[in-house]
Amino acid sequence: MQQQADEIIKILKSKGLRVTPQRFAVYANLLERRDHPTVEQILTDLNKDVPTSSQATVYAALQALREASLVREVLLEEGVSRYDANVAQHHHFRCTNCRTIEDIEWDTFGKIDLSHLRPGLKAEKLEVIVQGICDRCQ
Ligand SMILES: [Zn+2]
Ligand SMILES: [Zn+2]
Repeated sequence: MQQQADEIIKILKSKGLRVTPQRFAVYANLLERRDHPTVEQILTDLNKDVPTSSQATVYAALQALREASLVREVLLEEGVSRYDANVAQHHHFRCTNCRTIEDIEWDTFGKIDLSHLRPGLKAEKLEVIVQGICDRCQ
């Protein structure tokens, strides 16, 4: 646990971030979950033990972590921002019933050939979003 904490502090510092309790708590929380939580869900989780966080501080911590490329925002639903500490390239599966989002390994679909785009379009980012029903909902 202490080793993990040291590791998190090291990562934050390596990105030039000042280590604040909020940034630490938010990043640690995101690293230990894979469900792509919303700000509200992170807040609920952090306040379970000691209610100290507000939505504004969690949001500010997320912004700093995003700017340092440690966390990414995942927008799979209109108007709902979710956060992901997995910043390696990957795709997402979204259950349309329970709205759970899970990661799909980057090489799951083989290579997607971006040279088929019409001339004039320059690709910057590619991500496949698969929508369907997860095993828990079937
Ligand atoms: Zn589901
Ligand atoms: Zn993800």
